[in-house]
Amino acid sequence: MMLANTKTILEKARKGNYAVGHFNINNMEILQGVVQAANNLKAPVIVATSEGAIEYAGINFLHDLVKTASELSKVPVALHLDHGKNFKIIKQCIDLGYSSVMIDASHENFAKNIQLTKKVVEMAHKKGISVEAELGTIGGKEDLVHSKGIIYTDPKKAKEFVQKAGCDFLAVAIGTSHGAYKFKGDAKLKIDILRKIKMETKIPLVLHGASGVPKDVVQLAEKYGARLEGVKGVPDSQIKLAVKNGINKINTDTDLRIAFDAAVRKALKDNPQDFDPRHVLGPARQLITKVVEQRIRTFGSVNKA
Ligand SMILES: [Zn+2]
Repeated sequence: MMLANTKTILEKARKGNYAVGHFNINNMEILQGVVQAANNLKAPVIVATSEGAIEYAGINFLHDLVKTASELSKVPVALHLDHGKNFKIIKQCIDLGYSSVMIDASHENFAKNIQLTKKVVEMAHKKGISVEAELGTIGGKEDLVHSKGIIYTDPKKAKEFVQKAGCDFLAVAIGTSHGAYKFKGDAKLKIDILRKIKMETKIPLVLHGASGVPKDVVQLAEKYGARLEGVKGVPDSQIKLAVKNGINKINTDTDLRIAFDAAVRKALKDNPQDFDPRHVLGPARQLITKVVEQRIRTFGSVNKA
């Protein structure tokens, strides 16, 4: 298949009341692990590159890897720019033929956020590329994105924002947080706010900072030397509740990082005499598939391809 259209995938999810997984990739093994999981479960999937990933691997490498993965895939694979802040990179993604881009101007004031988002919408829509924007402040730190606290998205403002900026999907702040150290207490999402935003905007809504940080994977990483005291994710029950109330795209990065790390550590420790990179990275690819399958099941997108 050709790279899929993100808006088509997410509008279908909105109507069907489920969420499609967005998974961040940095290299071939992570990408292959993700796309394998989506194919195993016949689920559509959104593969995302952050600006940090683009800086690390190069935009042409990542674009062509994902394009190849989509051509080999039996399920729709879309390519998305996560947290676009640099207009030069956003434009490069649009010119290269990404399926969708995110413009994250959530750190700006309301009017400026609208203005910058609108500018990207105008550039992207001309080429049939859809746009995700963000309103409110998602907490935590990951990659090049960080903020001190959470400022919940205001439902009325969300309505005005979507009308004026013309974005296709909206990332909302309802209590999730980026990274592996999300919460001191337990995660408690503001489902009442989410419902109101959905009522006001009626477009696919996006949940960032939503990794589950699965205990078994964390324990595996720790068994082989990782030090991850205090890591905590969003429980599956909260994710399901969010999906039921209007979330149609869920971003996952941290879980894949921990899985990759755990599998590499294990491979190196178990076979210290083996220095074949394929034997070090192959198990990481397999564990990524397992973790992504679990996520897709939680999101409700099995057999939705
Ligand atoms: Zn994010």
